Amino acid sequence: MTWQEELRHSIHTAEALCAALGLSETEIPVYRSIVEHYPMMIPPYYLSLIDPRDPADPIARICVPSPEELEPSGVFDTSGEGDNTKQEGVQHKYAQTALILSTNVCAMYCRHCFRKRMVGLSDAELNKQVTAAADYVRAHPEINNVLVSGGDALMNSNYIIRRYLEELCAIDALDLVRFGSRVPVVLPQRIYEDKELLDLFTAFARKKALYLVTQFNHPRELTEEAARAVRAMQKCGVQVRNQTVLLRGVNDDPQTLGLLLRRLTKVGAAPYYVFQCRPVTGVKGRFQVPLQEGVKIVDAAKNLQNGIGKGIRFAMSHPRGKIEILGSLSETEYLFKFHQAKNPADAARIFTAAIPPEATWLDGELRAI
Ligand code: SF4
Repeated sequence: MTWQEELRHSIHTAEALCAALGLSETEIPVYRSIVEHYPMMIPPYYLSLIDPRDPADPIARICVPSPEELEPSGVFDTSGEGDNTKQEGVQHKYAQTALILSTNVCAMYCRHCFRKRMVGLSDAELNKQVTAAADYVRAHPEINNVLVSGGDALMNSNYIIRRYLEELCAIDALDLVRFGSRVPVVLPQRIYEDKELLDLFTAFARKKALYLVTQFNHPRELTEEAARAVRAMQKCGVQVRNQTVLLRGVNDDPQTLGLLLRRLTKVGAAPYYVFQCRPVTGVKGRFQVPLQEGVKIVDAAKNLQNGIGKGIRFAMSHPRGKIEILGSLSETEYLFKFHQAKNPADAARIFTAAIPPEATWLDGELRAI
């Protein structure tokens, strides 16, 4: 299938899901009620990665809705995105970085998404005009890099991607432009089949350092097709980096996470963050791994890596900044460091917090919750 056919044949209804997975029709109302809240989209390519014989299949866990998503605890905006929005679709949390929400569309709606409040749903938080976002960046010379995100930045049309590249690559103050996308993971054909897209990136990578930031979460996602998409971007002169989310039932054991990090390093998509899953409504109860356990898993996975793979940081995207979880000092006392800080007074600050076994996050006062 071409990538356009993949999209056309994606599973997005409860009926189609039950038919595709051989589930009983009695389950249709259950899936329908979840999909009404949080949309589903599974391209046939990604669906084919599921092992239907495994009831706990990690790939299915990433893409198939679960009734646990309707559990109401948690919050929708866990890192203060509303407070950091300076104009429609433009967030400015750290002085040097601007974040543009370019679309609410993704090729596949990950069940663990931290922007579950908007992906496939509302366009209220999106940037609607490329020029308006670029004007904001131009008006703030302290910004030296921009992340074009979403949704999935590569689900924009080639015309819109070109407009972002034209505007942002012409801004001298920018050292680099990043595109956030899970397309290499869930719809890699969209990259390696689309010569127009590749030509665009090739042309603009000569003018500005371009990065594709992607999110592989399980070694089985790194197929030959996915590796081909990564290599195609690299051939354009675009550097590929990976951020993984630590997810219960997906990669929460050292062997799986370690293998993923090794394969990423091998394909040249250097992993640089393993993120603690955020306490998002509809995500929290299903996917979060307690911090104590997370530290053990990440440290053990790190031990399996070469120097490049060891470069990862275990971190949380918190309203106060990006906080690295450095490790334990005793059974319950843990050491943290601000890797990025919203408030300059927090910059590079090291602190400790008491972390009970069940804690998964820090509150606004940096106490375990
Ligand atoms: S691709 Fe990214 S934005 Fe889209 S659903 Fe997955 S995690 Fe969320």
